[in-house]
Amino acid sequence: MHVIIAGDGLGGLPLAQGLRQAGISVAVYEKDPGAAFRNQGYRIRINSDGITALKAVLTPQAFEVFAATAGNPGPRMDTFDHQLNLLHAQELPLIQGLPGGGHLAVNRMTLCQILLSGLAKSVHYGARLTRYEINPPGGVTAYFADGTSATGDVLIGADGVNSAVRQQYLPQAQVVDAGLRLLYGKVPFADDEARALVPPDLLGLWTTVVGAERRFVGLAPVQYRQPMRQAAGRIAPQIELSDDSDYLACVVGARREQFPCTDQELFAMDGPQLRALALPLVKGWHPRLVEIVARQDPASLFPVSVRTSVPIGPWETSSVTLLGDAIHVMSPAIGVGTNTALRDARILTDRLAQATNGRPLTEALHAYEAEMLGYSFDAVRDSADRGHRMVGPDPLPTPQG
Ligand SMILES: Cc1cc2nc3c(=O)[nH]c(=O)nc-3n(C[C@H](O)[C@H](O)[C@H](O)COP(=O)(O)OP(=O)(O)OC[C@H]3O[C@@H](n4cnc5c(N)ncnc54)[C@H](O)[C@@H]3O)c2cc1C
Repeated sequence: MHVIIAGDGLGGLPLAQGLRQAGISVAVYEKDPGAAFRNQGYRIRINSDGITALKAVLTPQAFEVFAATAGNPGPRMDTFDHQLNLLHAQELPLIQGLPGGGHLAVNRMTLCQILLSGLAKSVHYGARLTRYEINPPGGVTAYFADGTSATGDVLIGADGVNSAVRQQYLPQAQVVDAGLRLLYGKVPFADDEARALVPPDLLGLWTTVVGAERRFVGLAPVQYRQPMRQAAGRIAPQIELSDDSDYLACVVGARREQFPCTDQELFAMDGPQLRALALPLVKGWHPRLVEIVARQDPASLFPVSVRTSVPIGPWETSSVTLLGDAIHVMSPAIGVGTNTALRDARILTDRLAQATNGRPLTEALHAYEAEMLGYSFDAVRDSADRGHRMVGPDPLPTPQG
């Protein structure tokens, strides 16, 4: 069996790792010109689903590097008002036997570098999928913008929120704007003054600070226990990691109407302009919070428009399927988008391995889709609902048709 994956993100790469471990031939086609093309240095929370999936798809050595390079912020997810009075304390349960008790915080770029290990020959950059054709005798051919094509037994669309595979395969699947905009950045902890500014209460797994008109600031630390290269060098010297320093992820969010600019202007702004936009949104808030927002590294800032998929029913299974944000992009309110993509990768690896051991391919893919549609759309609904109650994105629209 030969599997084609469109997209080398946090869903496509773990699937490629899992298939490689299972001895299944795989090729990944990524539109970006290289692995370090975009700003990928943001923080990702990895929960028990994500950890379990990574353990299943990575080599034991690579999994050890992942665990050694992840921050361990504990299970607290508290909510404060804009004067830092505690509104709601929440402590998630710790899960025995998992690193960090099942609650880790990683740098996206670091995780991608670990997920790329051993795959250099299988990932093709500068390959933007434009369409595919299902071949009558079986198999599928993917066509790329540069005029090339690739044929395999199965095509997996792991090509993210704007998935070209989804748009061709499931044109009825909607992705909608939830009305919320985020200014996502980092406060470097390189100097101790910045670290000392943030009290321990605000250094949990995720802290939400809510102000007037449901504006909010989200805070989450990424703190390493040892230098990145040292950890990889000790455990698996073949895994090359870029060094990174401790930081506090700091997100300022508000409804789109509260920004004094159009989306077009927002997405054309540079770091200093974005920071200048963030500060008025926290005017009059507790001085410590204003200082934290003021310390966002301008070079790290980027705008995010919160979008969500609208759950759909099952479709007729073929030799094309979808995984991750391509099918179930969700509001980041509870931080499970990556974790759900990782879970997809683990289950799809198992089902494709069954297909190499005699289970009919369509039956194996159907079993994956039936299971994935259940837990992933539950996560989409849960994320939309909690986000709407806490910080004001639109509720999930009723599916059409
Ligand atoms: C700021 C931010 C913070 C987040 N924090 C968390 C968190 O804490 N926890 C969590 O669980 N989730 C989090 N998420 C969500 C998470 O990033 C996504 O759910 C996750 O990346 C989905 O992985 P994916 O592989 O489906 O998509 P992506 O990671 O987006 O990868 C898709 C890949 O496909 C490529 N591609 C696109 N189109 C094509 C094409 N036509 N042909 C070929 N390649 C293509 C893209 O370049 C990209 O590399 C966060 C998201 C953001 C933006």
